[in-house]
Amino acid sequence: GFQCGIVGLPNVGKSTIFNALTSAAIQAENYPFCTIEPNIGIVPVPDERLDRLANLVHTRNKVPTQMEFVDIAGLVRGASRGEGLGNQFLGHIRQVDAIIHVVRCFENDNIVHVDGSVDPLRDVSVINTELILADMESVDKRLARTKNQAKSGNRTLIAELAMLERLQAHLGAGEPARTFVCKDEQHQGVMRELCLLSAKPVLYVANVSEDELAGGNAHVAALERVATGEKAELVRIAGAIEQEIAQLAPEEQKEYLAELQMAEPGLHRLIRAGYRLLELITFFTVGEKETKAWTISQGIKAPGAAGKIHSDFERGFIRAEVIAYKDYMACGSEAAARDKGLMRSEGKDYEVKDGDCILFRFNV
Ligand code: GDP
Repeated sequence: GFQCGIVGLPNVGKSTIFNALTSAAIQAENYPFCTIEPNIGIVPVPDERLDRLANLVHTRNKVPTQMEFVDIAGLVRGASRGEGLGNQFLGHIRQVDAIIHVVRCFENDNIVHVDGSVDPLRDVSVINTELILADMESVDKRLARTKNQAKSGNRTLIAELAMLERLQAHLGAGEPARTFVCKDEQHQGVMRELCLLSAKPVLYVANVSEDELAGGNAHVAALERVATGEKAELVRIAGAIEQEIAQLAPEEQKEYLAELQMAEPGLHRLIRAGYRLLELITFFTVGEKETKAWTISQGIKAPGAAGKIHSDFERGFIRAEVIAYKDYMACGSEAAARDKGLMRSEGKDYEVKDGDCILFRFNV
């Protein structure tokens, strides 16, 4: 599955948010929740479109798609030098596809901050610096190897060496690898092989206290500037409240949300933001027996989407009968959409779009 790693300094609210995410998952009906490891949670992706489609066709079984969150605790200043089991935690970050960076924006004298005060700018830079330092080590190693090999005079290696030197300078200036511009395809391959931590897409979570959820505060404003500067998304959440919400039964949850004047749990916004960060899209299979949301990466073609359901579907792929979500809802049924010519028959080169409702035709 696709994984978002939750990182941040100690005591910023990572576990609180992770626990809220996973206890919400346990509560979800019809949902085979499981924890692979204590720090990995599989979480259903909330999607109103699935709910509406399921209601429309009176489905017996509604199955949301899912994504994984990993609670990566223990990142501290000096982690890249091995402080506080640092390397182990950096290794966990290497495994995930994207990073959710939780930043403490709530003041509370009872909850110790590792650096003695709440300061989002400093905190973000502590974490980012550790990631960049770890990356510099990876780049240095590769650079030494390439330098040696390039002595042969091989042009490809000489070009790679130049790229690595440029990358080294970029990281050395405190810039994350994700802002490094590299157009050459071969060099992009080298970047992938390096599997750099600071190359992973990131979104920020401003963990605020309940009363600051609507208005925000100076800390949130500071973090907003960071996020905007990096073209990263910022999600504002009150971790403590989310944990409370997640533990309530559905009916109580509705009442509590109304009381808080929230349309939905903040976690839903976080999950969807994580989903976007991973550049994932959803397609649906719709039926009376089961209506299900499926996850694929942007750009996947119809046979690949079919393969998500079953490898036989991909192997024997003939066509995909596709109705856009909006058309499905507007027509009210598959048959009506077909009558209006809104059910398209697509071939193997069709790139699946977010919200497509698909019926696969295949040979067995
Ligand atoms: P982690 O070390 O980043 O995983 O932090 P925790 O989730 O363990 O939270 C550290 C402490 O901060 C705990 O006592 C939490 O109850 C508290 N905490 C977490 N989120 C919030 C929040 O949004 N508001 C307040 N007031 N306290 C919070």
